[in-house]
Amino acid sequence: MAGAERMKRIGVLSLQGGVEEHINALLSASAKCAIPAQIVEVRTQEDAEGLDGIILPGGESTAISRLMERENLFPSVLKIRKIFGTCAGAIMLARKVEGAVIGQRFLSLMDIAASRNAYGSQLSSFEARLTTVFGTINGVFIRAPKITPMGKDCQPMAFHGEEVVAAYQKKGDRHFLATSFHPELTTTKFHEFFLKL
Ligand code: GLN
Repeated sequence: MAGAERMKRIGVLSLQGGVEEHINALLSASAKCAIPAQIVEVRTQEDAEGLDGIILPGGESTAISRLMERENLFPSVLKIRKIFGTCAGAIMLARKVEGAVIGQRFLSLMDIAASRNAYGSQLSSFEARLTTVFGTINGVFIRAPKITPMGKDCQPMAFHGEEVVAAYQKKGDRHFLATSFHPELTTTKFHEFFLKL
């Protein structure tokens, strides 16, 4: 039927970390840009079937890695064509990770380098004004990694001073978005961008 496009199915990896906040941000983004989306909390391989995209929330990348192994989720998530990782999720996406613990496993899909806890401990968490491709926003950094795009098809999407704090990469028919901060806490712009992909 003309115009009856299938509703997008967007997963939120729901093993650990800021899951609720991403679901809420996705719901607001979906309403704001009038793109209906079915949101799926992903805990098992079955949940990850047939998703158009998935969000990997922040939390603790060592725990996320361990739980993804336990649920045998690496093969399913590796297949998803559009992935948005925030903070620990950005670490999961990074091709190069500094400060990984022994045995920690990553998706290694996106050409960024991530340096874990590069801004210091929980006490050094901060909020800052960021210049982004969507305008100025507030960014919340919680034991955030520093991310560095590797290669010119990896575009900066947000800056804190001179530093890149968000990046987007299209690799063939695959799309990756990574932020070192938590956009789900202060804006829906990144979720809108992800839905529009
Ligand atoms: N420091 C955490 C890690 O290395 C990330 C923190 C976060 O996601 N807020 O996984």
